[in-house]
Amino acid sequence: MFIADAHCDTLYAMAIEGTRPEDCVVTPGRLAAGGVGLQTFALFCGKHGPAGTPYADAQSMLKAVEKAGVPILTGDLPDAPPASPTGVFSCEGGEMLEGSLARFHEFQDALRLRMIALTWNFENEIGHPAVEGPEGGLKPFGLELLKAMDAEGVLPDASHLNEAGFWDICEHAQLPPIASHSDCRWLCDVPRNLRREQVKAIVERGGFIGVNFYSRFLREDGPATLDDVVRHIDALCELGAERVIGFGSDFDGISAWPEGLAHPGEFGNLLDALRRRGYTEAQIEGFAGLNLWNLLKQAEAARGR
Ligand SMILES: [Zn+2]
Repeated sequence: MFIADAHCDTLYAMAIEGTRPEDCVVTPGRLAAGGVGLQTFALFCGKHGPAGTPYADAQSMLKAVEKAGVPILTGDLPDAPPASPTGVFSCEGGEMLEGSLARFHEFQDALRLRMIALTWNFENEIGHPAVEGPEGGLKPFGLELLKAMDAEGVLPDASHLNEAGFWDICEHAQLPPIASHSDCRWLCDVPRNLRREQVKAIVERGGFIGVNFYSRFLREDGPATLDDVVRHIDALCELGAERVIGFGSDFDGISAWPEGLAHPGEFGNLLDALRRRGYTEAQIEGFAGLNLWNLLKQAEAARGR
């Protein structure tokens, strides 16, 4: 079964934290063992810029790419989902764009970003993070950037963005909103998770929600289990999200995860848990990778329109 993951912080771990490639959670061997055909690698930047500036951070992450040991698609996607581990790029935290569309095009031309998480946990030139509260929508540069992203087929990722920013995406973007690595806020009340109304809006527009494996986003009281991941998927399905659900593991960016889902080699345990819960193979294929794949193809087809 084709498996796709919408988010990992492996490039940050290697380039900024100095983790050796073989000590990362995401490794080529584990991706292959888990059947992961598509791994999204985030260029993750906050405002502090350990390498000097967020832009410099992004450059050092790009230098680390070859250490990731998987080929990265920087052109058009193939017709069919890749059979062996293949990467695509995303951006997490718009600071690396330095408030400049020229920077956006520089990264886009070189890397073919598939999605941009407009903020991480800091206010930036684009908007405001969820951790600072719901008020304050996208800034003028954020709205300009959305237009440029639409033209380039880059999906707007609201995973760290606040609610006002999310609704601005819904109002102004042509491409559907996504949340690459967030869970259900009504099951686990942390600002990084989505409210019901946000899930419904993503479903209406045909976006994407990557279920995050971080224990603290899955349950408030103690270590999460595989059943908690399934519980969040159940809750999303109750809101009609069957066609927009996928995985956003957040591997190499999280410090606690369900037992049996510690790294990409263990995706099979989650698929088995979904089978035990009674999901059909077709539903599981959607969650596992096809929902994300189909949306990436759709976004790519929208380029230049
Ligand atoms: Zn994140």
